[in-house]
Amino acid sequence: MIVITLPDGSKREYPQGTTPFEVAQSISEGLARNVLSASFNNTTVETTTPLTEDGSLTLFTWNDEEGKKAFWHSSAHVLAQALEELYPGINLTIGPAIENGFYYDVDFGEHSISEKDFKTIEDKMLEIARGKHDFKMRAASKADALKLYEDNPYKTELIENLEDGTITFCDHSTFTDLCRGGHLPNTSVIKAVKILSVAGAYWRGDEKNKQLTRVYGISFPKQKELTEYLEMLEEAKKRDHRKLGKELELFTFSQKVGQGLPLWLPKGAALRERLENFLKKAQKKAGYEMVVTPHIGQKELYVTSGHYAKYGADSFQPIHTPKEDEEFLLKPMNCPHHCEIYNAGQWSYKDLPKRFAEFGTVYRYEQSGELHGLTRVRGFTQDDAHIFCTPEQLDTEFKNVIDLVLYVFGALGFENFVTQVSVRDPETPEKYIGDTKHWEMAEQAIINAAKDKGLDFVIEPGEAAFYGPKLDFMVKDVLGRSWQLGTIQVDYQLPQRFDLWYKGSDNESHRPVMIHRAPFGSMERFVAILIEHTAGNFPLWLIPTQVMILSISEKYEKYAEKVLNLLENNEIRALLDNRNETMGKKIREAEMKKIPYMVIVGENEEREGMISVRQHGGKDLGMIRAEEFTQIIENEINRTLKQF
Ligand SMILES: [Zn+2]
Ligand SMILES: [Zn+2]
Repeated sequence: MIVITLPDGSKREYPQGTTPFEVAQSISEGLARNVLSASFNNTTVETTTPLTEDGSLTLFTWNDEEGKKAFWHSSAHVLAQALEELYPGINLTIGPAIENGFYYDVDFGEHSISEKDFKTIEDKMLEIARGKHDFKMRAASKADALKLYEDNPYKTELIENLEDGTITFCDHSTFTDLCRGGHLPNTSVIKAVKILSVAGAYWRGDEKNKQLTRVYGISFPKQKELTEYLEMLEEAKKRDHRKLGKELELFTFSQKVGQGLPLWLPKGAALRERLENFLKKAQKKAGYEMVVTPHIGQKELYVTSGHYAKYGADSFQPIHTPKEDEEFLLKPMNCPHHCEIYNAGQWSYKDLPKRFAEFGTVYRYEQSGELHGLTRVRGFTQDDAHIFCTPEQLDTEFKNVIDLVLYVFGALGFENFVTQVSVRDPETPEKYIGDTKHWEMAEQAIINAAKDKGLDFVIEPGEAAFYGPKLDFMVKDVLGRSWQLGTIQVDYQLPQRFDLWYKGSDNESHRPVMIHRAPFGSMERFVAILIEHTAGNFPLWLIPTQVMILSISEKYEKYAEKVLNLLENNEIRALLDNRNETMGKKIREAEMKKIPYMVIVGENEEREGMISVRQHGGKDLGMIRAEEFTQIIENEINRTLKQF
């Protein structure tokens, strides 16, 4: 008999050779129906693997990440089989499960596939799935493995890099694939399948290699789940910041300027300026001082900071000058510059904290395949600041930064967020620099601050930066996707590397602690997430056009202009749509542009000296005086944009 320990700590005895699936059956029929995969002593096993020793067993269902992974990994095998049956002679390469679904990279040879083939592939996959084929793992010698794939150079390359004795295959139906394991019990639980897209992908991600076709798909245990997923994708597409950013005329990209280098259009630049001013105003109250630093710095600066060692090779290469040996780098971070600003003065403990803020543009060479709208770019502006304080001030400073981040989120309508405290991995203290006493202080300061501020946080051991612990803010968008925005980090390393000092009350020299913080993260990323979060319905204080005035006909143009002047004099951002178009069309267009208020002026309005107001989405506020309307707008702004 063997003793199996379950996640709740309970122990059960089974005959040797019992499989995880049989364990599930012994617990309940419901569990047996839903079990998708298993891990034994923290190693992935098949649900059909006979267990031969004591150990702890976890059974996974669709509700677990591991369950989904097994589902999608197994589905990738089914996709591969379907493709091979439909397109004889193709070469399969690799096909992993990913966050949402799976893909398979295929060398289609003489064949090619496009969207019109998706349905055929889906049908073939479902046909295979219905066959209820078991997934069975088996070991193979390297020689046998090479023999099996003698016509497939990709699999051959993979196998050549494997140790003999470690090679395994997975068989199901008539199909065999090189695989490490982690499957569903059989194919029949795959009830719904969708091929999502095809894209080019280089073998092993290397542009020098042959370009393959990547086939993306997703599968579910129920048709209903697939339908819901596809609806969510549709909604996400509508909210895609790349699409909305164009429609709202906020930003663009130019191949001539270069990939990943956003160009902000006038409306986007104005929106960004409002965001900056909003934060600058709050920062001023919080005791920050603005600084300005150049876009480049000597290479040595980043060698000192450690950024060069870490990012140098994969980043923009040094800029050379006519002077020999002189090299500059586009700045990847603002911190080294701010350290040198600190070093320009001599500080006593009474002068601290010093809080230097800058909307600093930085440059990082992201791989072209990684670039994505405004969320992954090569040049972006951080709402950066560095606080230099005494170790004793850390606690208060940290709390103040949290207050600022919460204020920013509140004013922008991000209510649904979680926070993560990233601390050291106690198992590997050698990975972190600085003394233990300071680390303990800093970690405690962050945890206390998070508790004190009532944050809903998780502690993640091992996620700290090597130079200090941090607190990250993750917002959830309406689709439930998580995005990292603001970050607050404690750093003991840079003060040491840049030899920063202050004079303490004991008249001795001490090292300050540094806090890096960026509530938005970067202007680019923040605006992207804000667009997707709000679907372009920005808070009134931020939106480019707050009011569209629509005149019923040209006759009322004079009056419409009078109303426009009045609104503008009240610092309301209004436009006048004077075109000779039907009111229906003008309203539809203003709705499309997400303009929060429409003011309609015609005969009645002019005669009464009033305006008719309609809200985005159709709510009618009726005929009111213009002054009353400006008050409505002011009140709405004050409600969201409370004083910091
Ligand atoms: Zn597999
Ligand atoms: Zn920094």
